Amino acid sequence: MKRFTCPSCSNELHFSNDGCVVCGTDLAFDPARLDMVPAAGQTRCANAEVADCNWLAEPGERFCRACRHNRTVPDHGIEENRIRWAAIELAKRQLFYSLIRWNLPLPVDDNGPWPALAFDFLTDETDADGKVKPVLTGHANGLITLNIAEGDDAEREARRTAMGEPFRTLVGHMRHEVAHYYWEVLVRNTDALDQCRRLFGDDSEDYGEALQRHYANGAPNDWPQSHVSSYATAHPWEDFAETFAHWMHMVDGLETAWAYGINAGQGALRFDPYAAPGAQSVIDAWVPVSIAINAVNRSLGQPDLYPFVLSAPVIDKLQFIHGLIAPWRA
Ligand SMILES: [Zn+2]
Ligand SMILES: [Zn+2]
Ligand SMILES: [Zn+2]
Repeated sequence: MKRFTCPSCSNELHFSNDGCVVCGTDLAFDPARLDMVPAAGQTRCANAEVADCNWLAEPGERFCRACRHNRTVPDHGIEENRIRWAAIELAKRQLFYSLIRWNLPLPVDDNGPWPALAFDFLTDETDADGKVKPVLTGHANGLITLNIAEGDDAEREARRTAMGEPFRTLVGHMRHEVAHYYWEVLVRNTDALDQCRRLFGDDSEDYGEALQRHYANGAPNDWPQSHVSSYATAHPWEDFAETFAHWMHMVDGLETAWAYGINAGQGALRFDPYAAPGAQSVIDAWVPVSIAINAVNRSLGQPDLYPFVLSAPVIDKLQFIHGLIAPWRA
């Protein structure tokens, strides 16, 4: 992500700020300019109070460009729900920052060629017999469902440990689930489908059975030689989603690193990672940066920021994802 400063006093700002702590100016993020602007005289998103959304409302609308995709939101009268939902909305705005940077299609209704991109943020429900009906995170026909329990750090960490994952974040969930949506938009019924199947495998394989098998047996031991994560081996759709999310991690991670002058192992060559000429240029720049940041994390006793190794087949898959996204920016 780019770096933000106060338009009044040039103080450093975070993406989530709604004001400047130095000069007191009320600020909002304007998704049309991808920058912080004075909020005076402008309409804030209607989720400003309830979900800490700091974006401006779309012209003539109640909600911002990210919040208007919400179909169901949790009962935010319950403070625990509100806090979890607000954490999820911040991750969603991070997601939208990247989607807007790439100019990817973001339909809000079903009138165009693709289904609307929509979000259900739900809580587990307990039925009359006291049985809990768990909400499962997933994507179907443009609708992304997320259990807001994931917005609780302890809960998410417990799930990460139970699943044996090196990495479990809200923005990671967002990037993974939206990837399933962009498979529908950019791959299904397009010329890209054949190449996608050559790289990721035949997605006509029964999805439910494949996931059951994955949860029963785990990933093959040699998964790092062909996949970006163990979960990516569950089904070709999951491989696509994990790889797409990974591409978002690298591109946005590199933009942030460069915005702060972190330039490990790189000469003078700089480019906009969102307009990268190919996947390899991003990988070449990102890997030394990630090694440096991992080393800093280790020196402070933290786990690696970027606990991944990219094999040649994964790089081919990342190149395919780059090829799908890049034309939208033109
Ligand atoms: Zn200021
Ligand atoms: Zn909003
Ligand atoms: Zn998935």
